[in-house]
Amino acid sequence: MLALNGGTPIRRNEDWPKWPIHTPETTKALQAVLESQRWSISGTYAGTPARDRTFSEKWAAYNGVKYAVGCANGSAALLIALEALDVGAGDEVIVPGLCWIAPATAALNVNARPVMVDVDPNTFCLDTAKVKAAITPRTKAIIAVHLYGSMTNMDEILAIGQANKIPVIEDCAQSHGSQWNGKNAGSQGVIGCFSFHHGKPFTSGEGGSAITNDPRLYQRLQNLRSDSREWVTHTPKLGHMELAETAVVQGSNHALSEFSSAILTEALTRIDDQIKTRLENALYLDEQLLKVGGIVPQARPKQVTRQSFYHYMVRLELGQFAGKTNEQVGQAVEAELGFWIHPPYVAMKEHKLYVPHTKRRWKLGSDHEAAINPARFELPVAQKAHRENLVFHHSVLLSTKKHMDSIVEAFAKVKKAAADLK
Ligand SMILES: *Cc1c(COP(=O)(O)O)cnc(C)c1O
Repeated sequence: MLALNGGTPIRRNEDWPKWPIHTPETTKALQAVLESQRWSISGTYAGTPARDRTFSEKWAAYNGVKYAVGCANGSAALLIALEALDVGAGDEVIVPGLCWIAPATAALNVNARPVMVDVDPNTFCLDTAKVKAAITPRTKAIIAVHLYGSMTNMDEILAIGQANKIPVIEDCAQSHGSQWNGKNAGSQGVIGCFSFHHGKPFTSGEGGSAITNDPRLYQRLQNLRSDSREWVTHTPKLGHMELAETAVVQGSNHALSEFSSAILTEALTRIDDQIKTRLENALYLDEQLLKVGGIVPQARPKQVTRQSFYHYMVRLELGQFAGKTNEQVGQAVEAELGFWIHPPYVAMKEHKLYVPHTKRRWKLGSDHEAAINPARFELPVAQKAHRENLVFHHSVLLSTKKHMDSIVEAFAKVKKAAADLK
């Protein structure tokens, strides 16, 4: 009998991995910041470069780019990316129809118009043919999100960007360390944006980064995140600022805390092992779940040479689950296993958190208000994904093959008894 209906759960393993992970080294690193007299990049110089500065150098090198700028969060990274590219009032920014709300909010926050484009039915990342069709003379940026456990087709999106002279921003908030033909996520777009939020595969609780190879954009990104200032190029005097007031563009404060930088610097020593474990388990799950039938794992283009995971996602052929809903199946599998399993994002046009009419700052005339009304976008694939797919958190993939077998067993059990779901 299904655990949901009072039967014995499959769950032999109460020991699903916890997230986030810290080690004694993390504690030491945080203690060192506490005692350093330097808790912020805009604190005065105490004898060593800001931890943000040294972390960002390592983070840029890790991703194979020249520059990285630490940010308060991933949303701030997207905002300063759009500002660095001078996207502004009346411009259009293409965002995926299936993802977290942040790319749309970032567009709104520069008084631009988010243009929601549907996703590919296999990868659930931007459908590049539909991107092409959505381009207008107003299009000033494309935000390509690498969603859950796959990547946007980089060859195609970069070609579209180039042909139309539109910069591609890679949103890698869910894909730290993924690689397209050996090149890291974020390194091929003009700017790559990362979130280091609590749930993301690489985290400091809150945090973010914008990476680029372009020295002009690097200077602008720095100015934009630290009140029009940037790193000094000399060694500052003790007790003086490590930031120079260059004022090349009006900035604001979106800086990463020194505590976050310390956590990230330490976590960077473990990121590759974690990616490897998750990927091995995910590939095994892909194979085994396909054998159960009626369960189709999120596809990855063949050019993806390494995949990092935020969530593991499958599409259910609900006809094989007695016509029940994905939510019913998810709840039943969750009862067998003991971790949260749920539908993916709601299509962006129906996102409960997309409510721009609630702020007077976007009452910019009837044209603008009509343009930002999400009802005008067609997102059937994203809507279908919300009805048919299920996701669970990447921390589950940090466990063992035996744990993966339990997941497969749980799906198979629920499929067999699907008619009993209420
Ligand atoms: C999490 C996320 C963001 C925003 O990051 P925060 O750090 O939460 O501000 C942006 N884009 C995507 C795709 C995300 O998943």
